[in-house]
Amino acid sequence: MAERHAEDLRSYLLLGAFALLCAAALLAWWTNARRLPENVGRTLSAQEQAEVLERNSPLARYAHLSPNATFPRQARIDKITIHHMAGDISLERLGEVFADPARRASSNYAIDVEGNVALYVEERDRAWTSSSPENDHRAVTIEVANDERGGDWHVSDASYAALIELCVDICRRNGMEALVWTGDATGSLTIHSLFRQDTECPGPYLTEKMPEIAAEVTRRLQAAST
Ligand SMILES: [Zn+2]
Repeated sequence: MAERHAEDLRSYLLLGAFALLCAAALLAWWTNARRLPENVGRTLSAQEQAEVLERNSPLARYAHLSPNATFPRQARIDKITIHHMAGDISLERLGEVFADPARRASSNYAIDVEGNVALYVEERDRAWTSSSPENDHRAVTIEVANDERGGDWHVSDASYAALIELCVDICRRNGMEALVWTGDATGSLTIHSLFRQDTECPGPYLTEKMPEIAAEVTRRLQAAST
């Protein structure tokens, strides 16, 4: 009789453990599904755009949020990573590309050839841009349009000026007192090609400008604070 009881108890325990596992799996699935904000991957109303932009850079005038991101990022922002679009793509078109979950790509911001700025992933979230989760959890990533295809992947003076301004604004709002280019992944200014060997992103033109970008952004940050 006692043996029989022990056997029953064992089956109940097994059944209980199984039910608990199912509940845990269900909870994990539910919280995961819930973690994707409802405002991503679709066109935002003017009111919704204004609300989203208020939490991010005031330089951005357009927002189309991408589902291709990690919500929220898992580290404090202490880096900026620069990319190029490998083409002259409009901010609206890029928004459509990043809105497609199959692309599995995004950036926090982009700048077009006229120097307009758009937001795709809020700063509090991690964009999927640089082939390095470790970098992108800490970085605000920026895609810059090219006004020439191939070659040095040149960017316009308007884009370049907007890039400097956006970097200064990001640093200021996130408590970064300087932007440092070391030429490797340890600097606070990084580029895509540091993390992936088969890309020349952000192209020779912008890559050569990195020391100048870091110096100019730091100069403006420190000029403003003295
Ligand atoms: Zn890139």
